[in-house]
Amino acid sequence: MRDAGRVVKTYTIAVLPGDGIGPEVIAQAERALEAAGERFAIEFTLRRFPLGAAGVAAAGDPFPEETRAAVARADAVLLGAVGDPSLDQAPRHLRPEFGLLALRAQLGVYANLRPVAVFPALVDRSPLKADRLEGVDVLIVRELTGGLYYGEPRGRDAGGASAVNTLRYSAAEIKRVARVAFESARQRRGHVTSVDKANVLEVSQLWRETVTRVGRDYPDVRLDHLYVDTAAMRLVADPRAFDVLLTENMFGDILSDEAAVLVGSLGLLPSASLGDGPGLFEPIHGSAPDIAGRDLANPIGAIATVAMLLRHGLGLAEPAAAVERAISLALEQGARTRDIAESGAPALGTREMGLRITGLIGEAQRSRASVAS
Ligand code: NAD
Repeated sequence: MRDAGRVVKTYTIAVLPGDGIGPEVIAQAERALEAAGERFAIEFTLRRFPLGAAGVAAAGDPFPEETRAAVARADAVLLGAVGDPSLDQAPRHLRPEFGLLALRAQLGVYANLRPVAVFPALVDRSPLKADRLEGVDVLIVRELTGGLYYGEPRGRDAGGASAVNTLRYSAAEIKRVARVAFESARQRRGHVTSVDKANVLEVSQLWRETVTRVGRDYPDVRLDHLYVDTAAMRLVADPRAFDVLLTENMFGDILSDEAAVLVGSLGLLPSASLGDGPGLFEPIHGSAPDIAGRDLANPIGAIATVAMLLRHGLGLAEPAAAVERAISLALEQGARTRDIAESGAPALGTREMGLRITGLIGEAQRSRASVAS
């Protein structure tokens, strides 16, 4: 497609705002995506579809048929968050989280990438001392479509007094996510720490053997192994020790939330979930019902997610870097939402923070235009 002499590429993004603060932060993420598109002459067709409680309300299904079809056709999927306390007691197939797990399974996104880097402007917002935080830059690679969250058999027995979940991994499932971790380490500081519980669990023994075998294909990457309990301690005691942290589904769920504490707010962090088809991109936080609908949510996690979508989902490194720079710049200029503001200090709402960052994404374009005119 051509627009006034500029070649414009078009990508279709399925946008799933979800529940709670999801629609609020996603509105700002869409704004950021459009600003990046404007600056780099890329056209995004953004189409919204319901997921989670929104799917139950619209179609009686947390992952409605219309949404299933749309994500399969999209170039990438951008998700807010799901979860609604009113459905906490609903049957499993009607719970928002069921929709999310089904979405991940349909897309086959087996590798979840969660970067955790401390913004220098926010060092004082972390519960850890500043000297422990300098230079912290961890990439958590979490297996996402296997393990305890998917294993069968599962369920409560007839009387409800006992229950079972199954932890199962095949070597093939471990191998493919391990490769993502080693490849990522090659782009970073060349160090993979694989986390398991091999002293107790047979599945972890298979995990450790398989990761070690994959590691032989990457002699330039240093590999070490940690038990999950030690890893949990080291993440807060010495977070700089990690470059790429590779782990299975449930350990990754827990460790990535622990790592999020380092940066000062859950509202700051993005994630990318990758498989062989379209990727799924979502901030790591949930639907935060306690602040939903009040313009209080931090949209930075969702906007940083747009950067991951551009880089990992569409292979657009330069626009991704522009979005990341705009976030850092807004923080350096003192922009704060309530979750990262000092107590009593004035704070921006979700929308205002989105506008600040979006303005900075467009900045370079405006300065180029003024030089030309
Ligand atoms: P949560 O992440 O929604 O909230 C935890 C705390 O962090 C809350 O105090 C919340 O106000 C705050 N918070 C989260 N995001 C924020 C943001 N962007 N800006 C400012 N503050 C923010 O986790 P929760 O309370 O345990 O779960 C709430 C619901 O979300 C539940 O239904 C849960 O199942 C669901 N959930 C969904 C996902 C997902 O969609 N991937 C992830 C986690 C939890």
